[in-house]
Amino acid sequence: MGTFAMTTRLANRPVTELEPAIDPRFSGHWTGKLDVTQGIASGAIFTFNADISITSDLIEGSGVSSDFPAGAGDCPISLSGQRCGTAIELHIWFEDKRVAAEPFVLVGELDTACTAAAGDFHVECWCPDECDCGGQDGDFHLKKIGPSH
Ligand SMILES: [Zn+2]
Repeated sequence: MGTFAMTTRLANRPVTELEPAIDPRFSGHWTGKLDVTQGIASGAIFTFNADISITSDLIEGSGVSSDFPAGAGDCPISLSGQRCGTAIELHIWFEDKRVAAEPFVLVGELDTACTAAAGDFHVECWCPDECDCGGQDGDFHLKKIGPSH
């Protein structure tokens, strides 16, 4: 009776009262896509897979990009961000040293089931001393594809 009663009480509480515990409903394996629409890489599409946990106010995760930076092989990435309701801001850091100086900054909306998100991203130029390209802009899409690995 004890365990069931506790679970029921937790389930009936507003999610904001559960922080900082991560509700397992919001953890999962996600796939992501970054479509560059403005900048020197315009037209490029970068993809990644990541385990992502989403609480009432925080987002964190880690994963791998296999196609960015070009030629890097599997490039580890880490994600951290904030959530307010369905609004999210997420920073994606690529470990490859050529692009590690600046994160992709994603700003968008999470669906109410926490299974998809979409919006816009910007990333500053990775070599501002040699270049004044202004960085890259584009659209992002995230989709939950299964449980965490
Ligand atoms: Zn540049």
